[in-house]
Amino acid sequence: MLTINASKPLLIAGPCSAESQSQIMAVAHSLSQLGISYMRVGVWKPRTRPGAFEGMGVKALEWLQEASLAYGLPYITEVAEPAHVEAALRYGAGALWVGARTTVNPFQVQHIADALAGIDIPIFVKNPVNPDIELWQGAIERFAKAGITRLAAIHRGFTGYKTPSGYRNQPNWPIPMELKRRMPALPLLCDPSHITGNASLIADVAQKALDLHFDGLMIETHPSPATALTDAAQQITPQQLQTLLEGLQVKAETTPNAVRQTQLEYLRQQVDAIDAEIIDLLARRMEIGMQAGEIKYECGLTAYQPTRWREIVEETGKRADLHGLNRDFITKLYEKIHLEGIRLQLALWRTNADSKAEAQ
Ligand code: PEP
Ligand code: MN
Repeated sequence: MLTINASKPLLIAGPCSAESQSQIMAVAHSLSQLGISYMRVGVWKPRTRPGAFEGMGVKALEWLQEASLAYGLPYITEVAEPAHVEAALRYGAGALWVGARTTVNPFQVQHIADALAGIDIPIFVKNPVNPDIELWQGAIERFAKAGITRLAAIHRGFTGYKTPSGYRNQPNWPIPMELKRRMPALPLLCDPSHITGNASLIADVAQKALDLHFDGLMIETHPSPATALTDAAQQITPQQLQTLLEGLQVKAETTPNAVRQTQLEYLRQQVDAIDAEIIDLLARRMEIGMQAGEIKYECGLTAYQPTRWREIVEETGKRADLHGLNRDFITKLYEKIHLEGIRLQLALWRTNADSKAEAQ
């Protein structure tokens, strides 16, 4: 694993794509002053439709190697096939990333992992375009199995038909948070540029990621965003990056202020006690639901009853209003509780039917 330093997020910045040697030199020069770990630059660009700028390929790797040596700043580039791995290694890449359109494909991920056999370079794995945590974790596991010891994940949001947030991709924060729960030692970075698709929204999303315990950021930075050949709307200048970084607040998990830390722990104990009560109550609710299920079974009633469900939504909604709780949250929660109740009733019916069949 790459080491995680909670007080200093891992920073990656650089243009979406390499366009010219002067652009690369200019950006490397500016970024070398900002304390970032890697300069990111795409040289093979995965384009949704054919005919758009697809990157400068191996020629750009020469520029990257030169700039990297000149400014003492390692570079990271996207690899989507074994030939990319081979070329990037030949031109001294300091790390590689796997893009969202590659992580979706286990065959392709495996080809890349195979091409890395015996080479221990840091690999950053972006989430797949679809919100499937298993695919994301699976890709990371394929690299780990290939012997890669320095792995990290990058959250770049998920494709939706139209994102309600107005972002280019849906952040769907619970997915990266669940990945972190499953793989606590794996550094998790956020790419607010590809999430928002909008330079003016990047700072907010970057701060949110730090508030959610992310370990670093990848931010697209271009000397002249307006003229960028790819992702022009979401790139910021190195100057803007500097301002953004200065404005970020890095959050910790504990405070050296012993009084406040104790108060926090006391509040948590109360929350834990309430959670235990909630679970006890849920168990009781399910038990009573099963008794209702017996009656439904006996009388040939449906397990799910739309009128009843509407009643629950209405009543729980009113209760939520009473406490100033978000109605939408309560409805979603009850959707889950109600569905689980129905699942249990249906399971009960199957058991009843089985024992009836056995008795005959
Ligand atoms: C990129 O980082 O420029 C890129 C193509 O990313 P993603 O795979 O997240 O779309
Ligand atoms: Mn991009």
